[in-house]
Amino acid sequence: MLATLALFFQILLPATFASNVEISDDFTKEEKAFVERIRARAWDLILQESVERCTLRRRNKWLYSQVVLDLYLGFNNDGSFFSRNMSALRDASNKGTFPDMLIQGYYAKDYTWALGDLNLVQTFSTGPKGKFVIQLNRYHLDEGDVLGWASVVGHEMLHNMGHLHPRLEDDANAYNNDLEINAYQSCIKSEGSAPTNHFALTYRCGGRTR
Ligand SMILES: [Zn+2]
Repeated sequence: MLATLALFFQILLPATFASNVEISDDFTKEEKAFVERIRARAWDLILQESVERCTLRRRNKWLYSQVVLDLYLGFNNDGSFFSRNMSALRDASNKGTFPDMLIQGYYAKDYTWALGDLNLVQTFSTGPKGKFVIQLNRYHLDEGDVLGWASVVGHEMLHNMGHLHPRLEDDANAYNNDLEINAYQSCIKSEGSAPTNHFALTYRCGGRTR
């Protein structure tokens, strides 16, 4: 009986994740409920192999794959750093050791939709260490749908794992051209089927940059 139950739950819950999620009180009660839907949708998608494949397939399109220098370790613009991130997280998810996540809210009437500090989660050495911490701009919450925001969460999670991009105000051309981090985001948004056109992201990240 127990074995049957265990099997049942294993089928029901193929991804264990098993980490603690905190959505801060910076959000109103209604916003919190929306953010939880975003979080759940993001976690449906972030580790799907189709999303990773979609991102890597677009390698000939993206120009930048930058990571903070002390994480660089010889990886290049070939998606290998990203792939290490994904396989480490997938592994952790299967073992139930997926890093915790804190989602905070802030309010700013500017173009940024979200922020994510760099290098909070290490996916090298013995497995993922650290905690995801991302901030969502409440000012823009009304403008996005759950799936679009889920893709933003994925983007910020890559920042947390050390990925960079030029700032919009520093280099709009580079920002708007394809970046690995944005490829991942648009592949989440298309649920793993490669977007056919240019990214055309309306989303603007104010996250940490080079
Ligand atoms: Zn960003």
